[in-house]
Amino acid sequence: MSITDPSHPMYVPEENREIARERAKAYVEMVSDYLEIRDTIPTGFNQQEQIQMNRKRILKVLGGNEREWDDWNWHFKNAIRDTAILSKIIQLTDEELQEIEKTGTQYRWSISPYFASLMDPEDRDCPIRKQVVPTILEYLDKKEIEDPYAIIYNSPAPLITRLYADRLIINATNICSVFCRHCLRKKDIDTVDRIYPKDEMKAALQYIKDSPEIRDVLITGGDALILSDDYLDWILSELEKIPHIEIMRLGSRMIATLPQRVTPELCEMLSRHNPVYLNTQFNHPKEITPEAQNAVDRLIRSGVLVGNQSVLLKGINNDKNVMKKLVHELLRIRVRPYYIFNCKKLQGIRHFRAPIADGLNIMENLRGYTSGLAVPTFIITAPEGKGKTPLAPTYLLNINRNGKVLFRTWGGYVCEYEDEIPGENAG
Ligand SMILES: *Cc1c(COP(=O)(O)O)cnc(C)c1O
Ligand code: SF4
Repeated sequence: MSITDPSHPMYVPEENREIARERAKAYVEMVSDYLEIRDTIPTGFNQQEQIQMNRKRILKVLGGNEREWDDWNWHFKNAIRDTAILSKIIQLTDEELQEIEKTGTQYRWSISPYFASLMDPEDRDCPIRKQVVPTILEYLDKKEIEDPYAIIYNSPAPLITRLYADRLIINATNICSVFCRHCLRKKDIDTVDRIYPKDEMKAALQYIKDSPEIRDVLITGGDALILSDDYLDWILSELEKIPHIEIMRLGSRMIATLPQRVTPELCEMLSRHNPVYLNTQFNHPKEITPEAQNAVDRLIRSGVLVGNQSVLLKGINNDKNVMKKLVHELLRIRVRPYYIFNCKKLQGIRHFRAPIADGLNIMENLRGYTSGLAVPTFIITAPEGKGKTPLAPTYLLNINRNGKVLFRTWGGYVCEYEDEIPGENAG
């Protein structure tokens, strides 16, 4: 039986098809502003020409070769930390140079050559540059603020932060491959590199052993992939010996800032542990490059699932179309958007804060407008470590006593739904 046969179960009369086509047109109309500009939003894929030019220039400035570019150790040794080198890589005025130096006396900065190659050398508003090149705004912000994590009350054992019943964080290091200007842990980064040694780690592991309700452990920092493969292997092995640990998570920004770190050796090690999840931080579609894609491919082949936690940043990604492009690019490289964090009012990062309304607007323009898989949760972190709290546009309008639920759809229709009447199903 053919689908054009009226007795076929999937048969649709032509006039109904016409209605469906009109509806589809209306849906497309709802995203027309995005369709108009989506191809003009820079990504790590569509900017390859400039990125390759930058890479060649940076290699020349740093005296490296193509082989070294693929070696994350080289990127570490050649991390850009002084204005003399930075000024050969991007355009800086004398005033900017002085300001960077001044800010550097208070907050350290460091940029991996790889991440530097994603910067537009001429554009002061480049979303990559804003994330890693210091500005005087950080230095000028003198408003002190109390410890945002209230660590004195949330660290029951060395290196541990615990805010929840069933999961906790191990802070393994305070080092990163770049020091993000907007870092929500700017204070922890301080000025001295630390990788916490095994005996401190043992005390943390002992606490986890003694807490049978903990099923999920996050290793973070700083950046968990700062740890050597061997040290990480040891921690993961120790965790696996604890019967109540069900999953292990790594927090690392390096998938975005130094994807070369995801070596075959690291992946071989990770493939021996299970289940391992990794959460990274891509903030702008310019960070989604072929190198980042390769790193994610290798992780997935090793059984590691990758999620993304962005920070909502003024002038970088507080725009519904940029954020939509970001989540689309993430899914293309098989990274699942997980969270968008509200930026906190902390000293030195306040100028990055976008209003909560921007975050809600972004969420409003994702749900329904694009794949459900692409939609992260917008999170505000409650003060004093009281926990991550989701903020979302309101869809539920009312529930009344007769069991009627009033809600609106993503597209703006208001619907009433007859839910079960309380007591009706009793017994
Ligand atoms: C963010 C965080 C977690 C993990 O939270 P999820 O919502 O499960 O991703 C766990 N412990 C601490 C202390 C955290 O800050
Ligand atoms: S990688 Fe993460 S912890 Fe490190 S500076 Fe950036 S935001 Fe902070």
